[in-house]
Amino acid sequence: MRARTLLSGLKVWNLGKNTWVNRLSNGVSSSVSTHGPQVCVVGSGPAGFYTAQHLIKARPDVQVDIYEQLPVPFGLVRFGVAPDHPEVKNVINTFTQTAKQSRCAFYGNVNVGKDISMEELRQAYHAVVLSYGAEGNRTMGVPGEHLDGVYSAKDFVGWYNGLPSCRQLSPDLSCDTAVILGQGNVALDVARILLAPVQMLKKTDITAPALEALAESRVSRVLIVGRRGPLQVACTIKELREMVNLPGTKPEMVAADFEGIAEALKDVARPRKRLTELLLKTALEPPGEKEQQRRNSARRSWGFLFCRSPLEVLPDPSGTRTAALRLAVNKLEGSGEGARAVLTTEEEVVPCGLVISSIGYKSLPIDPAVPFDPSKAIIPNDMGRVTQAPGLYVSGWLKTGPTGVIATTMNSSFDTARSLLEDMGSGALDVSTRKPGSDSIQALLDQRGIKPVTFSDWEKIDQVESRRGEAVGKPREKLLTVEEMLEVSRA
Ligand code: FAD
Repeated sequence: MRARTLLSGLKVWNLGKNTWVNRLSNGVSSSVSTHGPQVCVVGSGPAGFYTAQHLIKARPDVQVDIYEQLPVPFGLVRFGVAPDHPEVKNVINTFTQTAKQSRCAFYGNVNVGKDISMEELRQAYHAVVLSYGAEGNRTMGVPGEHLDGVYSAKDFVGWYNGLPSCRQLSPDLSCDTAVILGQGNVALDVARILLAPVQMLKKTDITAPALEALAESRVSRVLIVGRRGPLQVACTIKELREMVNLPGTKPEMVAADFEGIAEALKDVARPRKRLTELLLKTALEPPGEKEQQRRNSARRSWGFLFCRSPLEVLPDPSGTRTAALRLAVNKLEGSGEGARAVLTTEEEVVPCGLVISSIGYKSLPIDPAVPFDPSKAIIPNDMGRVTQAPGLYVSGWLKTGPTGVIATTMNSSFDTARSLLEDMGSGALDVSTRKPGSDSIQALLDQRGIKPVTFSDWEKIDQVESRRGEAVGKPREKLLTVEEMLEVSRA
């Protein structure tokens, strides 16, 4: 019966020419399922869960253990995706199904590299898949970057989404103008959260302190600054449309920035064309009567500022707080997506009390023994196989760099899982010897006084958050500290 299930599983998931099939048909007994390949995944974001999902579906004998530094799972789905995008978070349901499989285990509150070493994981498992994301951020590298009032988008997003390490951020929102550096989707998320009516945000899972601060916010104008022009903005049309339609706001664009753009559109691919057409419409077309009324009553505004690079954040007279941003005016060399921004001698100063740099997340090395490419800030790999490190695999933003949506991460994580399965099948990865898996890791964690949070522990946190949210008309009220998460998980 067991063998039939295993074999039909193989048919369904079409493993192709896989020597593991041979080993099965060569008579490896059902004990394969208990002593089969032990794989661990580091990080429980989309990459970790999609890699685990694919492995578990494809090989009925594999055990996948997911280690996560926080007591709560799901990575940027919980701590990155904007609170007003609840539909994006539905992927959590799929991840939950994976976590509840008997051959998958979640160990939260375990920081790999600190609580447990990479060497210990490699000893315990046949394969280790690194999918710990991109926790660092690129800095602007300009004077004044460390003044009060300058934040990375990563921290700002972490603050409104309840990332415990960003709880103390308490950004000062008492100025009227905020500048966001970068024109990607994260920049637009930040702009939208800064300008959205509180009535709208209070129905989301935004944290209570962020909601309170935003209710008191005096920020009424957000400038979204990019190094290049309208044909190179990095956001997608959905996010731009949300800005255009954001209640209580009006666009503030410079018509001259769009000279020649309509003519350049004929050679442009469709998604870029549609995005640029919406920009052109917003910047240049006279609004209809209803839209004009909407704009007339708007108390807040937003706009794109093109072809500008930050040179310096200027302080107020106290020398500690942000008062303005000095920008270089750029010219473009080349055309289309590949156009390069080149600094001119022209400069301008934009008064602002808040600067949020949204110029990219960045992965960090985890252990000196794990290869890392500092220039690309990724783990060098070939289809997810870590270069010159047999048994080590990588998926997600750590593999590709911090770009793409969850669907992109899913496809590339499936690719990594396929590479791993292929290596098990071909014998390139030896899974014939028995490995202790989580047994040895649990023992080490015990010795170190670390108690992992299981998936059912997380479900207790989930229930408490949902209950607290329900009481105030939100989908959830997130717990904000690791201590409280642990306390609830152990209740
Ligand atoms: P992550 O989601 O970052 O997961 C990494 C996990 O590893 C985290 O849980 C982290 O805690 C854990 N970890 C880190 N270090 C360790 C360690 N040492 N030990 C154990 N665990 C560790 N995509 C969309 O499709 N729609 C959106 O609306 C959208 N919005 C976004 C908004 C923002 C602000 C950002 C930054 C991204 C957004 N994305 C969105 C993209 C999406 O979030 C990513 O594609 C995806 O999360 C990348 O997955 P990942 O697993 O590689 O990384």
